[in-house]
Amino acid sequence: MLENLKLALKKQKKLIIIFLLTIFVPSISLSIFGIRAIRNERFRLAKQIENDHKRAAELLKSRIGAQFEELDSLLLNLARSPLFLKKDAAGIKNLFEVRFADNPQVDQVFVAYDGAEAWFPLFQPNSCAVPASPQLSTEVDRQLELEAQTSEFKDKNYITAVSRYRELSNSSADPNFKVQMLTNVSRCLIKAEAYKEAIQNYQKVCEEYPDSVNTAGVPIALFSQMQIADCYKKIGDFQSSLNIYVDLYKDILNMRWPLKEAQFKTYADLAEEKINNIFFTNQADQSMDDDEEEFLTLKKLQQERLEEWHVIADIDQNIIPEFRDSQGLSTYRSLSHQFHKTLNEKTYLLSFVQIPDSSEIRSLGLLGAKVDERFLLGQIIPDVFENSLFDNTSSVVLSQLSGKILFGDGDVSEDLLTATEFFEDNFPPWKIEIFRTKGEALGVLDLKRNFYFWTILTLIVVLVSGSVLISRTIAQEMAVLRLKSDFVSSVSHEFKSPLTSIKSLAERLRDGKVEDSERMQQYFSVICQDTDRLTQLVRNILDFSKIEEGKKEYEFAETDVAQLVTQQIEYFKRSEYGKGFKIRTDISDSIPHLELDSEALSQAFNNLLDNAAKFSSEKKEIDVHIKKDDTNVFIEVSDRGIGIPPKDLDRIFEKFYQGRDTLHKSSKGTGLGLTLVKHTVEAHGGRLVVNSRIGEGSTFSLILPIRTGKK
Ligand code: ADP
Repeated sequence: MLENLKLALKKQKKLIIIFLLTIFVPSISLSIFGIRAIRNERFRLAKQIENDHKRAAELLKSRIGAQFEELDSLLLNLARSPLFLKKDAAGIKNLFEVRFADNPQVDQVFVAYDGAEAWFPLFQPNSCAVPASPQLSTEVDRQLELEAQTSEFKDKNYITAVSRYRELSNSSADPNFKVQMLTNVSRCLIKAEAYKEAIQNYQKVCEEYPDSVNTAGVPIALFSQMQIADCYKKIGDFQSSLNIYVDLYKDILNMRWPLKEAQFKTYADLAEEKINNIFFTNQADQSMDDDEEEFLTLKKLQQERLEEWHVIADIDQNIIPEFRDSQGLSTYRSLSHQFHKTLNEKTYLLSFVQIPDSSEIRSLGLLGAKVDERFLLGQIIPDVFENSLFDNTSSVVLSQLSGKILFGDGDVSEDLLTATEFFEDNFPPWKIEIFRTKGEALGVLDLKRNFYFWTILTLIVVLVSGSVLISRTIAQEMAVLRLKSDFVSSVSHEFKSPLTSIKSLAERLRDGKVEDSERMQQYFSVICQDTDRLTQLVRNILDFSKIEEGKKEYEFAETDVAQLVTQQIEYFKRSEYGKGFKIRTDISDSIPHLELDSEALSQAFNNLLDNAAKFSSEKKEIDVHIKKDDTNVFIEVSDRGIGIPPKDLDRIFEKFYQGRDTLHKSSKGTGLGLTLVKHTVEAHGGRLVVNSRIGEGSTFSLILPIRTGKK
């Protein structure tokens, strides 16, 4: 086997070298080159994408940063306004309204003078100073007031009290005192159950003194409206009462009066409770549904306002002090400062600038703005991100430094991080990350990869087909070598036995060891048969070699097929191979004479008889049947032998082929017999057909055409 392989390789050396040089080596080198090119290309594209993403992240950063820079320069400009120098509250409020009204980016602006509480002009109206308790100027007035109080509280003579308070109000020039007396008048009217008069009086107070504050710091207008609403309720006009309470509630929520946080809470709650009461007792008559809806909206607004109060308190109590501590702020510098702090899970993003004194040397305090994070994340960031032209192969995420995602596709765990960008001084305390979506091919590489991929694939296909071809050639070569060696050993064996037999018989005869003439005759006959056998063998081999070389020629002459077959059977019966065989012959009438090479056909028929005998076991019976139809003469040789396995049926006509099951037989054969028979029959324009069943026997049919015009 190994020997055969070596031989085959040697024989196909040229082919193998050509294959190696023209296919194998170039394919392998091209494949390696292709794979490396793909790798380099991938690397280059990955790098390029990384750079692109880095640039994109920087761009996003600067766009977001620009929002803060704009605010900073606005604050720096504002802080130089002389209004701050003059501490002109109304002017400052007005200035803020003009500059920040259309700026949803900022939700609180504040001024914090050194040593004073911070003031949020857009949220809180000017804080009004609480008036000192009025000092009554004259003895007459003091007497009058005492009388009024005695009438009201001791004598319960409200009518007298009303006129005394009125007198006091009229006689005074101090508006605070006047308004206070008028409220006392109203109070007494209520006590006197003169509700309508009380309402009128309160209304007058509201109209004439809309901004007055009582000594407890409560706006008189607010207090008066409440009383009016209560009076309406007392006289059974619930609808008017409700209307006034709703308006009042609105005014409180819209910060009409300068309330402190506690006052805001108290009066907003009070108004809410009163409205609730009217709803609960269902005392108001018309359009309740509309009112209720409005009421719910107001309740929500109250909630928002409370949150704003929290924010203001946080800024005032935590952020400004901390910011002040962190900076040396006494000297004025025209710089903006960013500050961020997280309180109760809320991130505060603020910008501070200093308010300069007139010489711009010292700082008077701080001007600050809180950025509306919700607006920033809900409007500005989406706008910025959407305009950054990211294709679907990448995703952008804005997150807190802790990793909490603020904006962008949350599911990036599978993706490849290509760029991270932090903001200057970590303000805002966020990071921008860009990811390449997992599974997305590297864009352009896809095309290129296809090109390289298909080239490599083609090379591999070429390589594999080449290898298969070479292997097949080598396998075939090995098979031929094996067949040849099998053939040589078979032929030697076939020659050896008759030669040995001839030699030993001839020697005995030569040495005069056989005296009996009958025996002598027998010896000669065996020698003749062996010689016939050898002749047959040699003839087969010679014919085969002629066929192989294309030199085999046939001499056709009109022949009596039936006679030819009968004669050959007779020879066969007398031969050593025919011994013990029962040969039945069945020849149909009027078998026509055919144009044949009688020698070749005899040899072919003999080969069939030989095989029939060789591959028979116990049942030594052979049937020869000659018949005809309109076009052909059939010469059939049937045995009751071992039969041919179906897988061998197609191959038995190949040169040198010997069935596996038959190789162990004593007579080895050459594997040429059927090849010759087939060639001969086909040279006569006929066919060789076989029918066989394992264990039952085989029938070989020589089908020869009857040529027209001949008998
Ligand atoms: P050989 O007889 O020398 O082996 P052949 O070409 O005559 O070569 O036959 C080829 C093979 O066909 C044989 O080896 C055998 O396996 C099979 N064969 C031929 N004739 C018969 C038969 N009558 N019965 C069984 N097998 C047969």
